[in-house]
Amino acid sequence: MSEMNLESEIQYLKGVGPKRADALSRIGINNISDLLHFLPRRYLDRSMITKIGHLKANMTATIIGRVLGKGILKGRRSRLEVMIGDDTGYIALIWFEGYKYLEKQFNKGDLYAVTGPITYFQQLQIVHPEIERMEDLDSELIHTGRIVPVYPSTSELKQAGLTGRVMRRIINLALEKVGGKLTDYLPSNMIMDHKLYSLPQALNQIHYPESMDNIESARRRLAFDELLELQYLVLSVRKYHTGVIKKHKYHPSGDMVKRFITGLPFQLTLDQQKAAYQIMDDMQRERPMHRLLQGDVGCGKTVVALIAAVYAAENKLQTAFMAPTELLAEQHYTNWELKLRQKGLTSALLFGSTATAERRIIENRITSGDIDIVFGTHALLSDPVQFKRLGLVIIDEQHRFGVLQRGKLIGKGEHPDTLVMSATPIPRTLALTLYGDLDITTIKSMPPGRKPTKTFWRTAASRPEMYIFLKSKLEQGDQLFFIYPLVEKSEKLDLKAAEDEYKRLKAEIFPEYKVGLVHGRVKKESREKTIRDFKNGRLKILVATTVIEVGIDIPAASIMVIEHAERFGLSQLHQLRGRVGRGNKPGLAIAIAEPPLSEHAEQRLNMFQASSNGFEIAESDLKLRGPGEFFGTKQHGLPELKVADLSIDSDLLQITRKIIAGLFAKDKNLDSVGKNMLKYLSAKVHSRRKMTRFG
Ligand code: ADP
Ligand code: MG
Repeated sequence: MSEMNLESEIQYLKGVGPKRADALSRIGINNISDLLHFLPRRYLDRSMITKIGHLKANMTATIIGRVLGKGILKGRRSRLEVMIGDDTGYIALIWFEGYKYLEKQFNKGDLYAVTGPITYFQQLQIVHPEIERMEDLDSELIHTGRIVPVYPSTSELKQAGLTGRVMRRIINLALEKVGGKLTDYLPSNMIMDHKLYSLPQALNQIHYPESMDNIESARRRLAFDELLELQYLVLSVRKYHTGVIKKHKYHPSGDMVKRFITGLPFQLTLDQQKAAYQIMDDMQRERPMHRLLQGDVGCGKTVVALIAAVYAAENKLQTAFMAPTELLAEQHYTNWELKLRQKGLTSALLFGSTATAERRIIENRITSGDIDIVFGTHALLSDPVQFKRLGLVIIDEQHRFGVLQRGKLIGKGEHPDTLVMSATPIPRTLALTLYGDLDITTIKSMPPGRKPTKTFWRTAASRPEMYIFLKSKLEQGDQLFFIYPLVEKSEKLDLKAAEDEYKRLKAEIFPEYKVGLVHGRVKKESREKTIRDFKNGRLKILVATTVIEVGIDIPAASIMVIEHAERFGLSQLHQLRGRVGRGNKPGLAIAIAEPPLSEHAEQRLNMFQASSNGFEIAESDLKLRGPGEFFGTKQHGLPELKVADLSIDSDLLQITRKIIAGLFAKDKNLDSVGKNMLKYLSAKVHSRRKMTRFG
């Protein structure tokens, strides 16, 4: 074999070849360097293996056992059950998904290493465990007694013959071939200052660790690199945004804003006032505002954003107010159109589904400058929408949009001010990562008179009892929400489930009461009517999918039942709950979960029941789910964190932020070491963007 280096194509590595190289390139591994940065998902060593007889519910364990039998059990939730046993007992492995493919791979007598959380539901079981054929593992695990890395796998990799054993072999070979040529882009004083492993040391120990402690040190170094790249990306975006001077100039806050505020049906809270003045302060500056307005659901962010919009209008500038759903955009428009008109301001509503003729009219009025504030969905991003003088961009529920969409709307003006809002309070560590390019205003207090929504969760078995309770509440004049999950992957099935349940509730459970149904597929007019009817009490019960999760405001409803609560994330549950208890009655949320419940699902539900504080909820959500899933970071156009874990690496986040900020600050006075680092990071960030994601 010829000389190999980090850039060598992977197919030339012995044992790879074109076919396997193809499978590897699909997960972003093209050259030797990519392969070395492909990290184990976990490690196995003999000391970590538990005898099946010693397993208890709620622990997470690795066991080794032989297949005793298997079967697909049909039912409401069909599943594959595989019994695995060792000389001390047996346990069931259960899959609800993807089992048709899996079923074939199990043969009686096969030896497997199995890892996962142990639960008890009629029997000891592991739902969706991680499995590894022992024939792939045993020589290393049993005979050499070393710590064995287990790499992430896909069926495609396996089909190309890239089993765990083969992955270990080629990675080991790559280390042998180029290990000596690895160099570090970090200056050695930086490595020493922060007590880091060097890059070669880290890569060696992450793949062939001598001890568990070494794995942690290696991981920490690689996390450092990852966060350094991330901070480079985030801070370059910031530099780009704030490096310009706005075309327009604001006058200090004038009459129109004051009249708008005094004309409100309520008094602003102190936090709202502070937020509004901070924002208007920003708008007066010569550089564009890039601010995040965050605060727990229901704290009243919308009105603060509108004050900014009125301020823009007073200065003859237009505002684009973008919301993630039609329902929400519509609500904003309906709530505010009249109040704005009374102050002499014109607003409009624009959807993708707006009829073409009507749309053209609105688009023309936006272009002519006739409309001051346009509310809408991502339809605002479309090309025919051209502003005369776009001065302010407001993005509601910003985590629903990507960085690119934000950028596109901003691009419709000449350096407009930007205000993004998020009802999911973001833990500080994550805010720094995701919104490192934004300044942050937080509304901490709630409007007066709000009582926290009482929450409890029950399993499906409690439904009959719950219905009796709900009937007594309905008799007292309460109104109810029933929420059903809706996820993209299983949208059709989910919609069907919500519709079936709607029919059942209407016909069988609450025949005396009027029940309505809304979800994303219901036509706009009928949806509007249903929500209006629910708002004014003609409907007593509203069945909805998660379309109502974001922002919808129906003060009269005080009780919410969340069905299949185990399928929701913690922050999402909290968002949903925020829909009730906004009127004068205290809110009540009942989460109904369908067993079997994973350990995480139970933790989520317990936390949901225990805390009503959005920040606390967000912090534990981050811990339970990890930052990747917390927001679906990919939505933000930011690279997914593979190594760093923000719940333990927040110190590294601060350190890397300082380093990059320092390098940027030096700008032209940068020494060659600094220049090299920036060059390396820039190349890295660009190649990452092109790379396909894993999984
Ligand atoms: P969010 O911050 O979740 O977007 P909204 O802006 O939708 O919250 O406000 C929630 C509800 O609180 C709305 O009905 C709004 O009119 C009301 N509200 C906002 N500010 C106040 C206030 N200072 N006093 C009383 N009610 C308020
Ligand atoms: Mg809102």
